[in-house]
Amino acid sequence: MPPWIQPPRIRLGASTTCQLHCPLCPTTRGEVRKGIGTGFLKFEDFRGLVDENPWVLDIELSTWGEPFLNPDLSAIVEYAHRKGVSLSAGNGSNFNDVPQTVLEALVRCEFWSITCALDGACQKTHSRYRAGGDFDRVIGNIRRLNSLKAARGTPFPLLKWQFVALGDNEGEIPAARELARELGMEFFVKLSWEPGAEGRAAAQAAGPVTVYDTDLILRRICTQLWRQPQINFDGRLLGCCSNFWADLGDAFTEGLVESLNGERIGYARRMLMGQAPPRADIPCASCPTYREAAEGKARWITPAETVWPGSFASAAFRGASWLKTAHPGAFRRLRREAYFAWRRLRPSPSAIVRSDGR
Ligand code: SF4
Repeated sequence: MPPWIQPPRIRLGASTTCQLHCPLCPTTRGEVRKGIGTGFLKFEDFRGLVDENPWVLDIELSTWGEPFLNPDLSAIVEYAHRKGVSLSAGNGSNFNDVPQTVLEALVRCEFWSITCALDGACQKTHSRYRAGGDFDRVIGNIRRLNSLKAARGTPFPLLKWQFVALGDNEGEIPAARELARELGMEFFVKLSWEPGAEGRAAAQAAGPVTVYDTDLILRRICTQLWRQPQINFDGRLLGCCSNFWADLGDAFTEGLVESLNGERIGYARRMLMGQAPPRADIPCASCPTYREAAEGKARWITPAETVWPGSFASAAFRGASWLKTAHPGAFRRLRREAYFAWRRLRPSPSAIVRSDGR
């Protein structure tokens, strides 16, 4: 009998639409629209999911599109705050178009964190990779957000600057790092997936390197099927944040718990543990990560890697879910204090990660 899946963190895409045209992005190339459609998460659907699943504590909103284009975002942020649910856009935002009302809601409702994608320290360089992006407008939005944070005396949203090193922009890493420091942002460099990126001395001089090879992708991305499953804006269950080919169920029509414990996602999990052969209706079957693992180039996921660790953690999550439902304000304060205690123990990293773009 497989374990019952009910993780405290889920990923629910706010948007698969984007106003930029980054040349390497599958959204620009139309692949995302073809696979999982173009659209926005609706407030009514968000409210239904949060109300029906009070055990959900955290929701990551960013995925294949720009989350801040979602017209219902202010309502979503306000409602999550009322219900004690923490929201983040850690996967990434281009942060070009953020209305003042949304900036105010982000600060008032203590939106947890935002990762801003900025691949240069000036407009000319940045716009080469983020086609259609406006560097000065993004920095202006960050400054306006920081003013609102200062006026309210809150560190939230926490801000991160993600710089993708693409060869000829690497000379701007020191300037970008310095600007990030001035803006109070954590800074990290991501290596591009182009062949030879791992040899880039300028990028690697900026910090330690984590190479996102297939083995690590299985551990960091494929385990999302158990630990933080991805749901499309329209409720389709995608399983992981890399999948834009086909769904594994529907969290809005079947129910979140039912879909997370459905037959198809269960089969996908068994494939990723090497316990079942590939099946045509499971998106992993056509994913390069799965194919490489099946060829023996990476280790299958083990049972120990699939669970929220230990009975203590399970009990803590049950207690947190109860507190969040009964006393959302107290829960928010507790979570915030726990975060700062953790950061005191583990100071902010400035790491380089390498992505293969899958
Ligand atoms: S094999 Fe591919 S589609 Fe399947 S969970 Fe892993 S990254 Fe996602």
